[in-house]
Amino acid sequence: MEKFYPNYYKKFKCIANLCPDSCCQGWDIVVDKKSESFYNSVSGSFGDKLREVTFTDEDGDRIFAREGKNCPFWNKDELCDIYINLGEEHLCETCGKFPRITMDYTSFTEYTLSLACPEAARLILGEDFIIPEKNYSIDNVEYNSEDMEKLLSKRQRAYEIITEKNLGFKERLKKLFKYFGGDIPDKDTVFAIHERMDFINPEYSEVIKNASAFPQSDDFDEIYTRMAVYYLYRYFLNAIDDMDTLGAVKKIYFAYVITASIAKSEENPDIIRIIQNYSKEVEHSCDNSETLELFF
Ligand code: SF4
Repeated sequence: MEKFYPNYYKKFKCIANLCPDSCCQGWDIVVDKKSESFYNSVSGSFGDKLREVTFTDEDGDRIFAREGKNCPFWNKDELCDIYINLGEEHLCETCGKFPRITMDYTSFTEYTLSLACPEAARLILGEDFIIPEKNYSIDNVEYNSEDMEKLLSKRQRAYEIITEKNLGFKERLKKLFKYFGGDIPDKDTVFAIHERMDFINPEYSEVIKNASAFPQSDDFDEIYTRMAVYYLYRYFLNAIDDMDTLGAVKKIYFAYVITASIAKSEENPDIIRIIQNYSKEVEHSCDNSETLELFF
């Protein structure tokens, strides 16, 4: 099976207690069966704690009960007690893999990192990433291989449009919508949808509300371009289920309108943190990304 890793993937290393927004903060940690069975065999007070804080949530997942907003194993030094007491190899799958993402298309696999992690966002948005013109051999798949070939070629064209050097980012986005035959949603609609969402950080609602009064900043076109390339690479081939090629393009547009307006509303915007926050609050929230999907 062919595998593709972007240049930033292998450079990633968790910065642990130096992380400005740890993944142990605000998220439920789902514990896989293998890890839970190992945790059940751990003796002593640490083993007791592992068992005491694991429970079944309303979706039937086994998760760690949060202490306040945080994972109960995130200690006062902002380090992980499971890593310290049991070793990296005994982190559950969720923690051991994050922010690494595997996109398995059966006969080929592409890898990426999640923009929701600040260190990954620094790498993804810090350098250009060229979506490879791959001629994957597509066989023994359950989907239509010709559709996948079409999608790979359309993704390539979308990549060329969004990275065109002689146009501003907004113009390139317009061109992208035109290429895929879709209408650009208006700004009020984009904000109205986001104002309905629930966020990990309740103040994020206010940030979005405040940003709705501002136009999009055009100071960071290079960074928006890298963000757009991330979304294309991460989501475009998902259209194999329904051939809705506009889904990934809309994700780019929504992320751009919100983050570029937030950037304009702030005096000294840290655009990488703004995009990372959006990813954590919207892209990586099951409920919020479902709200977007329903709208699309
Ligand atoms: S968000 Fe990323 S850098 Fe921060 S603690 Fe998690 S994996 Fe490490």
